[in-house]
Amino acid sequence: MRDPAGPARRKGENMKRPNPVTTVLSVAACKLTRAALRRTGRGGTAVPGIVAMKVEKNILTAVSEGMKVILVTGTNGKTTTCSMIEHVITACGHDCLLNKSGANLLHGIASDLISTADWRGRAQHSYAVLECDEAALKQVVRFVTPAAIVVTNLFSDQVDRYGGVENTLKEIRKAVMLSPSSTLVLNAEDPLSSSLALDTPARTVFFGLDASVGVQGDVDLSDAGVCPRCGSAYEYDYNIYAHLGGFRCPGCGLARRDPDVAVTDIRGTGPSGSAVKMRVRQNGGAQAAPAQKEREVQIALPAVYNVYNAAAAVAAALALDLPADTAMDALSDVRSAFGRMETFDLSGVRVQMILVKNPAGCNQAFTYVTSSDEDYSAVLILNNRTGDGVDFSWIETTDYEKLCADPHLKQIYYGGDRAEDLRDRLLRAGASEDLLTPAGDYTALVDRLAAEGRPVYVMPNYTGMMDLRPALCKATGTGDFWE
Ligand SMILES: [Zn+2]
Repeated sequence: MRDPAGPARRKGENMKRPNPVTTVLSVAACKLTRAALRRTGRGGTAVPGIVAMKVEKNILTAVSEGMKVILVTGTNGKTTTCSMIEHVITACGHDCLLNKSGANLLHGIASDLISTADWRGRAQHSYAVLECDEAALKQVVRFVTPAAIVVTNLFSDQVDRYGGVENTLKEIRKAVMLSPSSTLVLNAEDPLSSSLALDTPARTVFFGLDASVGVQGDVDLSDAGVCPRCGSAYEYDYNIYAHLGGFRCPGCGLARRDPDVAVTDIRGTGPSGSAVKMRVRQNGGAQAAPAQKEREVQIALPAVYNVYNAAAAVAAALALDLPADTAMDALSDVRSAFGRMETFDLSGVRVQMILVKNPAGCNQAFTYVTSSDEDYSAVLILNNRTGDGVDFSWIETTDYEKLCADPHLKQIYYGGDRAEDLRDRLLRAGASEDLLTPAGDYTALVDRLAAEGRPVYVMPNYTGMMDLRPALCKATGTGDFWE
């Protein structure tokens, strides 16, 4: 199979800069296609990028020049981490582009970057934070030299698409090897993604949760892999959740790196956010020893996985040499991204939407909702369309037992194309018949939720969210995500 990333870029080999004439034509083609698609009512995500790159293959190199680009990839948390990093950069006084549309493949990214450049192809922002699909990363770095690459974590996801988590890691590794000048921002507790630091001379900044936070979620080491240096199975001094934790290799000593941004304590977490302590290590210049600093940080989004995303955002700030204190302050008013712990006020009823699409993410959502000390309803939507991954067997390895055992859970509404499979799984997980109600029509469902008056956690997968969200937006007067 032909590798779209091509052979590794040699040191000193520059990307090809397009000539000014084809640059202008390509930008015009992108902007006009996008405008035409918008006028006909279509969002137009990838098509303008495809058209622009047909006109000038290297257009991305031109439009990203002079801009500090941060590429964010990984299985879970990409969208929220991107939104946090953008918020941090803005708080530091810089203007920043974010690919909010969620089109995170090469041509979708191209559409966003090119259409925001001026007509001569010059970037209009000093920073760009771009969510990037794990397999598309190696294509993007052929054209764009990122200042930083952030890898949130790696878990099994959409196996029919990538061929397993080890394969996803290989795809990311190709991109990292093409980007020796980019700072890598890595999860210290994830043995998979943190192993990327072994392959490159790039500067690395690690983020993580210390053992002292005392989080002990569901341990599932099936994604942990083996030590890339000696092939031994890892041992763990402590676990956070899934295969994240204080790992070390008994064979060669490869181990979790002490993070540059460490969460040392989670003092409290509720529906509106978490209060944590963070320790940041910053290099004080060539001569000075690294300075350590620990302080309280408020994160305006709940759940442990958002504590991770927040630590990743502060680590990205360090990678960009932005002030850590400003970054940490900014987390106190960070807003949720589209569908990611997005909160709606439905006639006084708190509704939180949590996108779930794989066992690790879904188990984390369950950990969060079952930590509630008030009664609640849950809405679970399962589709298996192209946007979700056709294979939905991941529900078998997801801990629905944990959700169904929660005494505060009073009702589960289940829906989507795979509603009956979901119902079957919930029954096997111990749900009683009277706990389960078909979700039915989403507008009627939203009315019913409003009338019940209990807090609601909506946990759909991607296309399920796209189906349900309009009804919720309409009932709550919420705007669309691209507004
Ligand atoms: Zn080893």
